[in-house]
Amino acid sequence: MREQALAADDPVLRLDRVGLSYGPENDVLADVSLSLTPGSLTFLTGPSGAGKSTLLKLAYLGLRPTAGRVSLFGVDTTHLRRRDLAPLRRRIGVVFQEFRLLEHLSAYENVALPLRVLGAQERTYREDVIELLTWVGLGDRLEARPATLSGGEKQRVAIARAVVVKPDLILADEPTGNVDEEMGDRLFRLFRELNKRLSTTILIATHDLALVRKAKADVLRLADGMVMRVPASAMAARKDEPA
Ligand code: ADP
Repeated sequence: MREQALAADDPVLRLDRVGLSYGPENDVLADVSLSLTPGSLTFLTGPSGAGKSTLLKLAYLGLRPTAGRVSLFGVDTTHLRRRDLAPLRRRIGVVFQEFRLLEHLSAYENVALPLRVLGAQERTYREDVIELLTWVGLGDRLEARPATLSGGEKQRVAIARAVVVKPDLILADEPTGNVDEEMGDRLFRLFRELNKRLSTTILIATHDLALVRKAKADVLRLADGMVMRVPASAMAARKDEPA
């Protein structure tokens, strides 16, 4: 498939009346519609088990919906063949709560891996990878193996790895789930900076409502299989709302 340029008014991600069921009696998403405009930063909140991870999987095409339509970068993915999904997937960086770093590789090698997989020569990316690890505050831990890094450090390696291919969309699944509040704030600042500096569109699934209120970003709230948009201003006022 030819890589398509995103028209100015195309949403980066759009879900139209999406349903997802993992089997009979296991409907997780009933009727979800949402769209992310280019350059937006949005939280996806909702109680545990509401379907946040499921929604992210649909967004990075790891799952196909059982109803409705998922469009990425202006392309309706409904009838695309498997091999045609790859060029769209390459435009997405994913950050998982449990990091998913390769234990036998150093921080530098983990971040460089997506570029190696794409066939890039090390001399073309070495400086960029070092710069990226320096940006996340790990310029002095390039050779460290994941086992020797703290939770916050591992998550920063995972963010650098997601960013290294300069994705148009970053999807982060509970990225602050395994770190303390101070590190959570620091990780969020990295996402904010990416969003501001490179206009990367970012969707962060989280149940960390303290972070959401501080961050003053728009919120998509997932409950009962549906999504509701909550503007940042309304979120600040909802002091007692459970995640
Ligand atoms: P959240 O991220 O909001 O905690 P999930 O998307 O992980 O929610 O899960 C939503 C629901 O779907 C849960 O009830 C979970 O048990 C169920 N679920 C998630 N993945 C699968 C799967 N692969 N097979 C069957 N059920 C699943």
